[in-house]
Amino acid sequence: MGKLAVDSTRPPGTKSRHTDLAHTIQCQMHAFLEELPTEFFPASVVSVSPSLSSSCSQSRKFSSQSAARFFLDIFSGASMPVSTAVQDLAGDRVEPVDLIHGLDLLDDNTFESLLRLASSGRIGAALAAPYCCKHSRATLRPNGPAPVRTPEFLDGLPSNTTQQQLAVQESSTIHDRSRILLSAVDRHAGLVILENPSTSMTWDDPLMYEWVHAVAPYAAQACACQFDKDWAKAWMFVSNRPAISHLARSCPHPAGTHEPIVGVRLPDGTFKSRITAEYPALLAQALASIIRPFLTSGHQVLQVDDWQSLA
Ligand SMILES: [Zn+2]
Repeated sequence: MGKLAVDSTRPPGTKSRHTDLAHTIQCQMHAFLEELPTEFFPASVVSVSPSLSSSCSQSRKFSSQSAARFFLDIFSGASMPVSTAVQDLAGDRVEPVDLIHGLDLLDDNTFESLLRLASSGRIGAALAAPYCCKHSRATLRPNGPAPVRTPEFLDGLPSNTTQQQLAVQESSTIHDRSRILLSAVDRHAGLVILENPSTSMTWDDPLMYEWVHAVAPYAAQACACQFDKDWAKAWMFVSNRPAISHLARSCPHPAGTHEPIVGVRLPDGTFKSRITAEYPALLAQALASIIRPFLTSGHQVLQVDDWQSLA
């Protein structure tokens, strides 16, 4: 199970992470986030409905095996709530991509197989939720392990040990590879969605900033309390389709109403945010309803190793 050096995972032509331009872009990203309303699109927006139904009618054409369109769930989580919700709607899907299910995105062979699949046109929709422990601002809080990256040093602190720097590079690789896979799906007219917590430092990364503007410019913030969870937490979704606006729900409650999550540690020293990482069922169902029109129906769960056997 070899691991590529992190820089080799970048698409050709992208910039190194430390440039004067990067600082400028980072400042622009901060301005962008400060201006971003809690709901990028109001939940009541219905103008996306025609595009949804249009996609629906298109998906009906994919009746033959050769035109099957599957859902790709990258970092599905142990209980893979979105894959389950998609299956409940009879949508075709690929096996979940997550280390806990035996598919490690850091493994070069796995990544290459996934990239060929994503580039084949068989993925109707893909969701990536790259884990963000090293991107979390929670690591900047006191009384815990020293942070390995900060908003000023997104590529890792100069004082990092080799092991700490390796952790930074793995985290960056996971995010880079997630974007590469989603871009391949986007090039074949598939729906792509990327999610991280609103507080994740990944949104400060110049490469992420550029990718969002180029590929996934539609954004929606979903507050946990609107999906039946009493958490002071919000997920940020970006997508290449405006239908993502269906997820946008803001918290109408006063500050301090909900259980604090960000930066709160459990007795064993880990962050409480880890146990809130998987989506509530209501959120998974809302995602599945956006994803389903881009998929065909009636095929078995596709194994990554088997996709080339499709007719
Ligand atoms: Zn609320």
